Amino acid sequence: MFEYRNLTKNEFLARNLTTIEEMISQTNTQLSAENGPRLQPLTPLDFWLVFQAEAAIDRHGHVDPDGQHSLGERGILPLPSNVEFWNGPGAPDPHRPHPMELNLHQYALYLGQLKNKVVRQRNGRDVYPDLFRHPGIEGHPARMAKLLAGVVHGYFFGGNYRPGPPPDNALLSGYASDRTVPDMLRGTTYVHAGSTILENRQRNIDEALAHFGAHNPDGAALPGSFEVTNDDGRYILAPEDASSFGSAQLRLDVDGPQSLRYLSLEVTAGFPRTLSHVIGQILEDTRSQGLRRIRAVPVHQHGSSWIVQIDVVVLEIEGAGRATLQLRRGAASIAELALIRESMHFDDVEFEVDMVDNASRVTEVYDPQSHPNRPSALPASAVSIERAFHDAGFNVRMSGERSVIPVQDAGADVIWNDMELHNAMQTYWSRFSNRAQWGMWVIYAALHERGTGLGGIMFDTLGQQHRQGTAIFTNSFISEAPPEEMHPEPWRRRMQIWTAIHEIGHGFNLAHSWQKEAGIPFPLTAQNDHEARSFMNYPYYVQGGQSAFFSDFEFRFSEKELLFMRHAPRDFVRMGGAMWGQDHGLRQEPEKPGHAFRLELRPNRETNMFHFLEPVHLELKLTNTSPVVQEVPFDVLDEGHHVSIAVAREGAELTRRHRPFRSACYKSQPKSVTPGQSLYATHFVSASVGGWLIDEPGFYAVQAAACFGGETYISNILRIYVSPDASPEAHRMASEFFDEGVGRVLSFQGAPALEKANDVLREVVDRLPETRVAQHALLGLAGPQVQTFKQLKGDENSARLRIVATEADLSCAEELQANLVDKHAETSAETLGHIQYRSSVERLAGTFAEHGDLDSAISVQEGLVDVLKRRDVLDRVVQDSQSTLWVYETLKKGGSENAGRKRVNKRKTKIRGH
Ligand SMILES: [Zn+2]
Repeated sequence: MFEYRNLTKNEFLARNLTTIEEMISQTNTQLSAENGPRLQPLTPLDFWLVFQAEAAIDRHGHVDPDGQHSLGERGILPLPSNVEFWNGPGAPDPHRPHPMELNLHQYALYLGQLKNKVVRQRNGRDVYPDLFRHPGIEGHPARMAKLLAGVVHGYFFGGNYRPGPPPDNALLSGYASDRTVPDMLRGTTYVHAGSTILENRQRNIDEALAHFGAHNPDGAALPGSFEVTNDDGRYILAPEDASSFGSAQLRLDVDGPQSLRYLSLEVTAGFPRTLSHVIGQILEDTRSQGLRRIRAVPVHQHGSSWIVQIDVVVLEIEGAGRATLQLRRGAASIAELALIRESMHFDDVEFEVDMVDNASRVTEVYDPQSHPNRPSALPASAVSIERAFHDAGFNVRMSGERSVIPVQDAGADVIWNDMELHNAMQTYWSRFSNRAQWGMWVIYAALHERGTGLGGIMFDTLGQQHRQGTAIFTNSFISEAPPEEMHPEPWRRRMQIWTAIHEIGHGFNLAHSWQKEAGIPFPLTAQNDHEARSFMNYPYYVQGGQSAFFSDFEFRFSEKELLFMRHAPRDFVRMGGAMWGQDHGLRQEPEKPGHAFRLELRPNRETNMFHFLEPVHLELKLTNTSPVVQEVPFDVLDEGHHVSIAVAREGAELTRRHRPFRSACYKSQPKSVTPGQSLYATHFVSASVGGWLIDEPGFYAVQAAACFGGETYISNILRIYVSPDASPEAHRMASEFFDEGVGRVLSFQGAPALEKANDVLREVVDRLPETRVAQHALLGLAGPQVQTFKQLKGDENSARLRIVATEADLSCAEELQANLVDKHAETSAETLGHIQYRSSVERLAGTFAEHGDLDSAISVQEGLVDVLKRRDVLDRVVQDSQSTLWVYETLKKGGSENAGRKRVNKRKTKIRGH
């Protein structure tokens, strides 16, 4: 008798554990009489999964023996309307109330029949029993149970697809590789594809699996259903980690089916980020009192070795995905990292497979038993792209958006050439530029123009791709079995799956087995192996040819290849990305909870585009994101003390740290910042001590860090573009302009002592008058002239120095006014940045005012207020400038009788007449 009152689904299953087992065993006895030795028994797990997904509950969440289901079926479980077809006489009318015992027994029998009764044939399979015999599913109780739930839900029923038929092969390979239902059905014509119904069903199934495991502790004995202790995977810094590393990733490889007994650690530290990568061989693996202790010694190190100079690594795993990693040198502990397991896999990858519609007979899943020439010890599971990389340790996601690309627009010419493939690749990735970086596109096409000799191609050989892709040509030699081949069809399928996995292997940066020592090899794995039985070897290259190869090829990668894929520095392995060193130590910093400030780096314009020669000024904004008033050093955003800036040109080897021309030493004074308040500063990042960092057209990545109060705040990475579009004159001037002295004059807005640099700037003003760089040049030249300027002067005949002050030159000020405020106001404000623009213009107005020319001061200050308003500068800033304007206006009214007293003769000399 089943108990059901006030029980949830889970409680019902747990409370009736043995009753359910008895019922199932009765069902199997009956089925066995009908099916003999081919019986596929119903298992308790089958029943738990379907029950969890289907049982009726009342509004209290309790199981309901008289529940009503979506098609009007009555009872705790919804018997199908054709239940008599499945179960024979004795079944109740599903639409009328009937006893709970009968409902449950009939339902169990119905499930058993689904696994055994042949109703039709499809794709050479008996539907549905052969589905459960699919390689990779048979022998795996959890997969078989999930598949049964899928059959009940109609994923294999043509009527649920518009248009049909069901994608049997894709579904089976999905079940064989533990994909989720929403994932498998995404992009298909299944009626509920893409809806939350599927998400809910998947959740029910996951819950049922976990719940069954908890109540059937010996369930672990079922192969493939539950995890045995396996601590492998990827660990990252835990929130409570107190080490000084910016990031850490540990890959542990000791428990999995193809484990190598290695670990690898990638840590970063400092700003700009420096990276160190250590591969360690595991020497000891012991357990005591619930603690697992793994000791490894470094066998390879890459990157900046100074970050981790160690000779022993000790990992202690506490369970629940928590671990402590000790880095040691001799007896001393150098660092201790608190880690949590982020994934059971070494990395996540995503593949999308598309087909051109004339690509013939695409093989996505290969049954390794289907060709008689094979090693005796083959895994029972099917061979697929997914499976191969899953076994290599990756969390493989097959994109659901598989499409068949029509060729009707291609005319008669359906043979591909490199240019077309390259272009297709560009189009493809530009559509999906938001995809995961570990991504790869596989396209099956019929034939390449290079003929049948080309079975597959990596798009990488067609140019520098940020993402990678591969094309497999189904009409090439890989479809043409040798004449003596007795099993041409399995041969063709095998060759096609081998080609696909081989090409994707190149995407992981794997070389051919006979080319491991070529180029700049990775030292740990650089060893040619002409006889390797690996996806990366050519079957027809080995001694004895392809039949010798396949007679002992186990459809896997070699150990050295696995070592490379799992433990080499990630930038070596990652497809898609970046060549080694390309991210240049800049780092995308996740916002840390508990951080009191946010640092932003931004250009002073709508697009991140700068002109050639234009000095790049960027704005720093530091915001108090905490709920309380915070104190910062008053020079927190000033150059040289707390702020560091890193500049990387794309395609260049190194990131350069911007070293400011000045380093102020202020007395430390705190300044209060209220919640939400921001501080701003402009930095001239183009030039640095030692030369220019931004001196040629192209893309640059810039990042800033502010270090104070014991914390380092890292800004966003700002990508800017320096346009090559400039006059020939500008390009001619480049070699003189990009000089450290010029950088200094611009940085300090004037350095009359640097005569050569000033000459260059005068030339810029003369020859490129309408350009942005001319505005900077003017400021640099005029700066010292529009104020009283002190200079050291040496006497002709003695080493003595004296200080000479030069009076401001008002004609020079007028010329500056004409440029900054009248003619080129907008351009100047944009290219100088609001902060510098405002301070320069206000200084100019101040110079006029000091010399009694209040009319000019007012007109300059008015011009400034206008520009700031037009450019939507913060109200507070506009108000400030406005009040300075009022001061001048008041001075003018009050002091009109004195007007002219201090007026200085205006001389019409040019700035460059200095
Ligand atoms: Zn190859």
